[in-house]
Amino acid sequence: MDSAAESTADGIAERIVEMLDRALPGERPIALHEPAFQGGEWDRVRDCLDSGWVSSVGGHVDGFEQALAAYTGIPHALATVNGTAALHSCLVLAGVQPGDEVLLPALTFVGTANPVAHLGATPHFVDTDRATLGVDPLALDDYLSDIARLRGNTCYNRHSDRPLRALVAVHVLGHIGDMDALLAVLERYRIGLIEDAAEALGSWREGRHAGGWARLAALSFNGNKIITTGGGGAILTRDPDLARQARHLTTTAKRPHPWAFEHDQVGYNHRMPNLNAALGEAQLEGIETLLRAKRALAERYQALFDGQAGVELFREPAGCRSNHWLNLLLLDDPAQRDPLLRRAHEQGLQLRPFWTPLNRLPMYRDCPAMPLPATSTLFERGVCLPSSATLELQQDLAHEKYPDHCPSS
Ligand SMILES: *Cc1c(COP(=O)(O)O)cnc(C)c1O
Repeated sequence: MDSAAESTADGIAERIVEMLDRALPGERPIALHEPAFQGGEWDRVRDCLDSGWVSSVGGHVDGFEQALAAYTGIPHALATVNGTAALHSCLVLAGVQPGDEVLLPALTFVGTANPVAHLGATPHFVDTDRATLGVDPLALDDYLSDIARLRGNTCYNRHSDRPLRALVAVHVLGHIGDMDALLAVLERYRIGLIEDAAEALGSWREGRHAGGWARLAALSFNGNKIITTGGGGAILTRDPDLARQARHLTTTAKRPHPWAFEHDQVGYNHRMPNLNAALGEAQLEGIETLLRAKRALAERYQALFDGQAGVELFREPAGCRSNHWLNLLLLDDPAQRDPLLRRAHEQGLQLRPFWTPLNRLPMYRDCPAMPLPATSTLFERGVCLPSSATLELQQDLAHEKYPDHCPSS
């Protein structure tokens, strides 16, 4: 048991920061999530520069896309300029139109909602399952039984009379929720599923990779994600026809021709440049090392916080093998969150709160939303811990477990 002094908010914040400070090696500041380069990147990027093909389309784009498909087991991958563009493309291909509503969690990065708004559709916020950080299928079912009305094969929000066209499920912090239960609810209401798997490359549930439940899914390779291409993303799909449409749509809808510029719809310049894909190929080759390091770090945090009063480390959901993108510490007392963030910041440790729930942001404040009790609790009590693979790789490097870590000079 803690002494009375230690159980004050500041006492707990101070104790946690001291524990983290001792546990985390290396120079300060320690980033929330930094990229890890294991060496192969140099050769790939040099090869790309030597080829002269640095922009969209090129051998590395094809190579990276094939490697992504092979790794995830999802047959078609289309590399894009970022995750937001990938999600935007998924929404277009799912038939989202101006005036539609798209269900998505309030507890996600703003990049989940922005492409919905870009299309002239309205985000409609749903609550999160505390055990998985995914959309709560039971609460959603309950809510839809009240507001949803089927007309033919289209589901409408009876309050706004707008189509509920799709739901974007997000694999928050790399954890995968109960997708079978979620799909069963959505199928009953004829609502399409899209997966925002931006944080979930390398995450599996019951043997299926993130993005494997929906017809369309999006990945991100931003600098803070599990692997990086500088900036980048990908569309994943099992459907060869959707893959063909995605390729067309993201490359200005240009029809193949030896010289003529023929475009047959309003397309997008969303494809990933070859230079970024070269980086992606090397990063993906090293993903197993990164995932091992991320798992080891999560286990280290678990051992550190097990049995500590006042805090609880979020655990990988049952049936899910997570990439542990970011480790989440939940505080019993929400009043401790800001003192903890402040102290950690002063100590050079980049702890971060959850994203501010999207329904609290000015541009999304008036969007429809179901009751969001779990979103509020998680936001008020959650703090993300420094989670870079490099925190483990540096340690292991000292023990020469990762001889391939250093770039060859
Ligand atoms: C990173 C992220 C995105 C956007 O990806 P970008 O590559 O930064 O455009 C979308 N959704 C979620 C949940 C993310 O974490």
